[in-house]
Amino acid sequence: ALFQKAVFLTTVAHLRDLPEDALAEVAFAGRSNAGKSSAINTLANHTRLAFVSKTPGRTQHLNFFKLEEGKFLVDLPGYGYAKAPEEIRSQWEGLLGPYLQHRGPLSGLVLIMDSRHPLTELDQNLIDWFAATGKPLHIMLSKADKLTRQEQSLVLRQVKAAMADLGERCTVQLFSSLKKTGVEEAEKVIAGWMGM
Ligand code: GDP
Repeated sequence: ALFQKAVFLTTVAHLRDLPEDALAEVAFAGRSNAGKSSAINTLANHTRLAFVSKTPGRTQHLNFFKLEEGKFLVDLPGYGYAKAPEEIRSQWEGLLGPYLQHRGPLSGLVLIMDSRHPLTELDQNLIDWFAATGKPLHIMLSKADKLTRQEQSLVLRQVKAAMADLGERCTVQLFSSLKKTGVEEAEKVIAGWMGM
């Protein structure tokens, strides 16, 4: 696999601590429990790589994994757990918003959504907001193994239709970490963004 050699690099809590030697990076977002850590681990061919992001003290931060010199995957904080609005706002304004909006090396965003519950209000908010950056978005509909074939093609069609406004800037796929399906499709998009 392409991302086989990924290693944990660093946890970033402040904008000033972002790696300076980045050439290209791809960020992963999603609701808590959507399967984001499993997806990163599956793509990077590790069992526990992204679970460092769940270490207490790291959950609200950006966790960087190095693929090769200057090429990073970035695990963003999962959203959706009940948090005080004040807390959400300060996290967004302090780190996440500015990162997504102004980070030059950020090549694109991968959004992980549970294929059984896609496009929740919080997902939609993130999509609307990120779309304004003009950068590409790749949606991975996770846990596809929990759906029948028919349900899979239905949800794929529905989400594609909902994203039609974004045209070629948004791609959508089914994915299963359990069955390892959709791995090559995801790798192709991500590697393409990073010029790998
Ligand atoms: P995160 O909070 O978004 O990082 O989600 P995790 O990767 O920790 O996954 C949340 C739960 O969903 C865990 O119990 C995983 O075992 C389960 N899960 C993740 N991916 C899959 C998948 O592809 N298929 C199935 N059946 N379960 C999955």
